[in-house]
Amino acid sequence: MEIVVNSPNVKYSENFIEAKYEYQHATAERDGNKIVVTPKTEKLLIRTARKVPKLGVMLVGWGGNNGSTFTAALIANRLGLSWPTRRGTQKANWYGSLSQAATFRLADNIHIPFSQLLPTVHPDDIVIDGWDISSYNLADSMERAQVLEPALQQQLKPLMQSLKPKPSIYFQEFIAANQKSRADNVLSGTKQEQMEQIMNDISQFKKTTGVEKVIVLWTANTECYSNVIEGINDTAENLKVAIAKGHPEIAPSVLFAYASIAMGCTYINGSPQNTFVPGVIEFAEKQGVFITGDDFKSGQTKIKSVLVDFLVGAGIKPLSIVSYNHLGNNDGKNLSAPKQFRSKEISKSNVVDDMVESNDILYSPGEKPDHVVVIKYVPFVGDSKRALDEYTSEIMLGGLNTIVIHNTCEDSLLATPIILDLIVFAELFSRVTIKRENWSDEEYTGFHPVLSILSYLCKAPLVPRGTPVVNALSKQRSCIENMMKACVGLPPENNMTLEHKVP
Ligand code: NAD
Repeated sequence: MEIVVNSPNVKYSENFIEAKYEYQHATAERDGNKIVVTPKTEKLLIRTARKVPKLGVMLVGWGGNNGSTFTAALIANRLGLSWPTRRGTQKANWYGSLSQAATFRLADNIHIPFSQLLPTVHPDDIVIDGWDISSYNLADSMERAQVLEPALQQQLKPLMQSLKPKPSIYFQEFIAANQKSRADNVLSGTKQEQMEQIMNDISQFKKTTGVEKVIVLWTANTECYSNVIEGINDTAENLKVAIAKGHPEIAPSVLFAYASIAMGCTYINGSPQNTFVPGVIEFAEKQGVFITGDDFKSGQTKIKSVLVDFLVGAGIKPLSIVSYNHLGNNDGKNLSAPKQFRSKEISKSNVVDDMVESNDILYSPGEKPDHVVVIKYVPFVGDSKRALDEYTSEIMLGGLNTIVIHNTCEDSLLATPIILDLIVFAELFSRVTIKRENWSDEEYTGFHPVLSILSYLCKAPLVPRGTPVVNALSKQRSCIENMMKACVGLPPENNMTLEHKVP
């Protein structure tokens, strides 16, 4: 389907879509007990390169549940596979993916898929590769994951047997000790040498496949938090030296992030650990390479960022949020170790902050609901993570309202479409540049290297220093939708529909 914007402010040329765009926002200042708000209009030119590059994706943790499920989904969708289940024939699809299975209102009553407003990479065209500390090929990894129906696995097996993860960086102290038996596919040498090997792998991958752009995404085990140490990982320069000296605080994920940035490849962190220490962020800023994360926002947190937004937005005061999980996959096994659990706990715990802070009728400064997160490893439930949540809120005149949720997550089937979206949108936004109308053409600039526009997909969104974190899911979704609309000169969705309300 072709979508053409009929406006003198939008120019479609062979290489670009160029939109003249009036960005309207406002600034506000408190002055005693007065607040002064000033509306602003900025005249921007937004330019989107139309050519979608041949895209390569390299997953760290390729042989894990997410990595193998993502690979299986790419192939199953590409080949249009279908398979028998107890409920009838199931066809491959991308349900759960914003880019492939969701729509937004374009105008009037016409809704279109996110993938159609602007040229985006098609999942069928993605070339995949990656690393894992386990030597299992992808067919065996898929079987080990116990995520997909056996009849689908049977069809995919011959197609996945030849896919084999490259040896990876393994420092056992960063992930749980219970992962050690998996680690039979690991690099040796100094930290610097291992990182250089990763850089070699990326350039080899480019050479052998002919991909024009590579995105590296961490979907390996959750690491423990790194300490941010002055003189070690606090600046890009110190980090470089610390890697060369093999400092013990340098995690495998930091080496992957550094290698990717050095190679000009967007790096996405799908796990909760603080890979993005200040030194990594500064390096990405200097190189002008996107980094985005942290931690896929798939199940429980996604609901939390809807529900608390609804409650606080409705003037109801959540007092206590208790989130309990049990899961039986390898991620759960790794998270059963206290240090790795701690990373997840931190990532899950700040998700309601912006909503709570937005309402000073309900909350006094610094006040927050009690918020507890528990994760238990129960092997029997495998990848079918159970998430149980209890929200207790204060309603009018001291009444209490309690909402209880039981959510069976099918972890990897929820996370896989998010992996795809992170890739598709990160690639798209790397082709968008913006300048103010009176600037020269040389002054087109891309988005800030900390790509916070993808917050919708992340449990603990990383944002440029000093800028606000948005966790509320509908706001995060609007951000992507409205940014895409801006690229073709369309106004943001404001839901006013005045055309139907004023005669
Ligand atoms: P998994 O344990 O099945 O897979 C992780 C893989 O990483 C394993 O194959 C392991 O061998 C490999 N690995 C570990 N350290 C490595 C290293 N240094 N280099 C290369 N490979 C390494 O886990 P999963 O269920 O696929 O989840 C992956 C990550 O995504 C976890 O950190 C998890 O917390 C995070 N996550 C998952 C979900 C979800 O599945 N719904 C949601 C949010 C975040």
